[in-house]
Amino acid sequence: MFDKLKKKLRGAMVAFSYGLKNTEADIFGQKTTMSASNIIEQKMQQNELAEALLKGEVTEQVEILRDRTYLVSDESKNYKVIIDTVGTTKAFKKMGKKKTPNTFNEEGYDVSIVMDNNAIPSSVLEGFDSIGTYGIKNNYPLKFEYEYSPKFKLDEYVKRIVIRNGSTPEDIRVDLYVPQFRDTYERLEKIFDNEINKIRGNKTKPFHVEFDTVYFISDKAFGTDDLKPYMFKMKKFIGVSEFDGRNILTYEVETVGDNEKITEKYKNKKLRDAYENKESRGTKLNLGAVKKDKNICEKCGAEVESDYDFRIIKQTIGIGVCNGCLAKINEKNNK
Ligand SMILES: [Zn+2]
Repeated sequence: MFDKLKKKLRGAMVAFSYGLKNTEADIFGQKTTMSASNIIEQKMQQNELAEALLKGEVTEQVEILRDRTYLVSDESKNYKVIIDTVGTTKAFKKMGKKKTPNTFNEEGYDVSIVMDNNAIPSSVLEGFDSIGTYGIKNNYPLKFEYEYSPKFKLDEYVKRIVIRNGSTPEDIRVDLYVPQFRDTYERLEKIFDNEINKIRGNKTKPFHVEFDTVYFISDKAFGTDDLKPYMFKMKKFIGVSEFDGRNILTYEVETVGDNEKITEKYKNKKLRDAYENKESRGTKLNLGAVKKDKNICEKCGAEVESDYDFRIIKQTIGIGVCNGCLAKINEKNNK
């Protein structure tokens, strides 16, 4: 449990320092000119952040960290980072548009989204949990819901989903790519293949390849950003086509819900504004500017001008005091 938390925290810290290094220095194309006090202050902020993360508090810093991680992840996709032999990192903006993958299409339709459906390996722990019960389950990005308990779980057969748009917004087609299981020894794959061949030859109704809804969150897909949810309700099965050695199952569908990025609700205004205004050019993103109160000496009540001094003192001796009171405390301790 604690190990897991530590690992999480370490991951967060790596993401955090990656964010500082790569967004500000490399991605914005500015040279690193961090002074010693910048570095110390950032280290202090990191400690405070670590404390907040350990306590499970969602402070503004944690909020900014979370959003920064998403921002870095989005931005970094536009750059190719090269690290040379002496460890200097250089970022280059990627040029040009991605080429449409080799996909099946018909007259009057545009390929809008292409995403592969590869098994997501479950973690070792999850694997242990399921041993002796149901065996190790595979997870897939595509989630199908069915009206009736299905004969075939489509997520296990489908290798790729393609969304195509016709001339009107309502005219949407979903293609499911399945391999042709010709030489398989897997009983179920054989049965599935036979079923598709029967459907193609109109020897049976497409009942066993129909579904109610299909849902996925975009991940490395063509035609869309990552982390966008897509859900489609099946209206009608259209037919089976053959393309590039695979069977394509085509459906007429309608969209359900919106495609707002799932990280959208975590957007932090301060970070996004700073990013928009390129505040980070020349000056660092002021992650520490969260303070709403004045720094008041806990001994004499005087206001401490330097936020930086006050925080160092508080971090070091546990209470926030002015320089005068700090001197007195030191004197007393030295006696
Ligand atoms: Zn004082």
